[in-house]
Amino acid sequence: MNERYAKGITSLPPYLFAAIDERKREARKKGVDIIDLGIGDPDLPTPPHIIEAVCRAAQDPVNHRYPSYEGMLEFREAVAAWYKRRMHVTVDPEDEVLTLIGSKEGIAHSAFAFLDPGDIAHGPDPAYPVYHNATVLANAIPHAVPLTEERDFKPDLERIDEEVARQAKVMFLNYPNNPTAATVDASFFKEVVDFAHDHNLIVLHDNPYSELTFDGYEAPSFLAVDGAMEVGIEFNSLSKTYNMTGWRIGFAVGNAEILKGIRIVKTNVDSGTFQAVQVAGIAALTGPQDCVKRNMEIYRKRRDILVEGLRSAGIAVKKPKATFYLWARVPQSFSTSSSIQFSLFVLERAGIVVTPGIGFGAHGEGFIRFALCVGEERLQEACERLKGLQK
Ligand SMILES: *Cc1c(COP(=O)(O)O)cnc(C)c1O
Repeated sequence: MNERYAKGITSLPPYLFAAIDERKREARKKGVDIIDLGIGDPDLPTPPHIIEAVCRAAQDPVNHRYPSYEGMLEFREAVAAWYKRRMHVTVDPEDEVLTLIGSKEGIAHSAFAFLDPGDIAHGPDPAYPVYHNATVLANAIPHAVPLTEERDFKPDLERIDEEVARQAKVMFLNYPNNPTAATVDASFFKEVVDFAHDHNLIVLHDNPYSELTFDGYEAPSFLAVDGAMEVGIEFNSLSKTYNMTGWRIGFAVGNAEILKGIRIVKTNVDSGTFQAVQVAGIAALTGPQDCVKRNMEIYRKRRDILVEGLRSAGIAVKKPKATFYLWARVPQSFSTSSSIQFSLFVLERAGIVVTPGIGFGAHGEGFIRFALCVGEERLQEACERLKGLQK
């Protein structure tokens, strides 16, 4: 069968979580009480006023027909108003905002909008796998830009090979970062804009964790930096901010020509976001934002519990300023730095699922990711089990 698949599919990296999925299934079957810190998917419900909005909108036959490809103007206006208020970025809802069926959809389709077979796309490593895999599906070539602990998981743009930089067409970026939880300030984005200008690059900045920040940190928009609108766009999403991963609604804002490229792909492969969901999206973006604050208070408590627990279990970890992830080195006391070996070990010995860093790229090796998408008691229980492993 394999030889009948397109080259893009057969070139995708191997699925590294298979062994862990398998052992997780086995353990569950045996009745092991698994604590899953692997999945980055909010366990908290969507706020009620958003659910009420979708219920009302679903009753209206106007919303039962094909939506427009670029999304309802009212939703795009709500996005523009939100970007103005929150990011101090002015965008024209007509052609500088594009509604997406979740930001993943737009990210993946951007590969098909800008990359021909053999073209080069810079992407961070470790990273959310979609940047790399969409590039591969488009028969283009991913170029890994390492994110290292020494540089606080920010790419060293000066170290990118000049020849590769000249040839590359796009650069994917993501801050606050999944999986490292790293954050940046606007000065880093300025460097990116200069680099993009020098090398004629399209910058695709992915910002779904912009509202998931702690301790007074405010995540900047890439577009807030001078010149950014000329070179790039930013993806954002309602998924993580409003606990709406299942609803599939996100958006892109920024350079109109770049957005138009993605829109052309979308016009030919999908039919837009269900309008009732867009109406709910308007309720989310224009309604009261205290639900976001309450969520972040929950994540902050969870973060503090797990950071402290990991440290007392001998796992060094930095306290992140954003996202719902902790990114930790495989402890030195463990016999190998293999993130898969360590993940299998904690699953077998403690019934805890964590994500091995290698699953996010070669430079993720030696690290593991913990997601904060379970309640406090379960996190406490996980910490107790991890402490027990030291003995
Ligand atoms: C969760 C996530 C997304 C996808 O969000 P959707 O809008 O639900 O598709 C995109 N990028 C990163 C880095 C993510 O972690």
